[in-house]
Amino acid sequence: MSNEKMKVIAVTEVGKVETLIVDKPKPGPKKILINIKACALCTFDQRMYSGVVKIPFPFVGGHEVVAEIAELGEGLDPARYPIGQKVAVRLLNSCGECYYCRHNAPNLCERTNERDSIVSAIPGTGGLNEYLIVEPKILWKLPNDLPNEIGVFSEPLACVANSFNHGLPQMGDDVVVIGGGIMGMLHIMLAKKMGCRVILSEPNKERRELGLELGADIVIDPSKVDPVEEIKKITNGIGAEVIFNTTAVSSVAKQAVDMVAKLGRVVMYSSQHPDIPFDISANWLHNSESIVTGAVSPSILSFEQAVKLLSKRIIYPDKLISNVYSADQANEAYQEALKPDTFRIVIKF
Ligand SMILES: [Zn+2]
Ligand SMILES: [Zn+2]
Repeated sequence: MSNEKMKVIAVTEVGKVETLIVDKPKPGPKKILINIKACALCTFDQRMYSGVVKIPFPFVGGHEVVAEIAELGEGLDPARYPIGQKVAVRLLNSCGECYYCRHNAPNLCERTNERDSIVSAIPGTGGLNEYLIVEPKILWKLPNDLPNEIGVFSEPLACVANSFNHGLPQMGDDVVVIGGGIMGMLHIMLAKKMGCRVILSEPNKERRELGLELGADIVIDPSKVDPVEEIKKITNGIGAEVIFNTTAVSSVAKQAVDMVAKLGRVVMYSSQHPDIPFDISANWLHNSESIVTGAVSPSILSFEQAVKLLSKRIIYPDKLISNVYSADQANEAYQEALKPDTFRIVIKF
């Protein structure tokens, strides 16, 4: 171990983060040391910090990162992995060997918690380490001139790309996005680029306005109108071809199913808190041939797609960054991330 030091931002108890100074690690053979430049705080990080999700402390959160290649372990070709190259990092572990990995669903890997693909002194998802040792296969090159606060969107956009790979919107389709949070906004931007008519259902006025700015064609206030009736009205009674539910409220999940067209697809994008089951009529499924499915985490394909979308600036989510903090302001960053009106909060090393 060298004497060089680095910063680690760890949640040490509920509601408390600390910036710790630890030894900077050396990469072993065939491993890469990356210097994490920026990490965004995701809903999972907020739930862990606020105690909604229970985990043992200390824990290093963060998984939406952009990094630079800092040092190569023995046996890696520097022409292939140039020092200073900007990279996106798929931090979710996939073993490559389990049933799901071998059925092209590495996002459902049975060993996501084992984290064989990263090495860090303090357990966690790893994104809030200033330096981290990783396996080359979890890195994707990003253009060096892509701003770091845009690069951190590779992971959340990859989750959305995975959602699209299940929802399969086609050009000319009506796509309903329920919920105008950050993930809803990314769904809007992508659906618009794919040639769909995009309808946002969101009670908050500012969010509806941002939705329109980012590409929604129609916005609905579900606190004023019945969103199911409204969708039926807009679609001449057919319903929308694709529904993306990005909210955690179970009564809304039921609405999502009620507004889909025959032959259409409903994607439960968000996890539910609390998760209250609702009824679906088997006869309705029989007669409609609609598909109700879900989407969780980024697959390897969807990560590739997200990196292409950002690298080519097809999706440029600069409007979704609420604030950028330095590593020494991590507590403030977590506090602000908890506020319901913020989109992404980014921490820079
Ligand atoms: Zn995330
Ligand atoms: Zn696996």
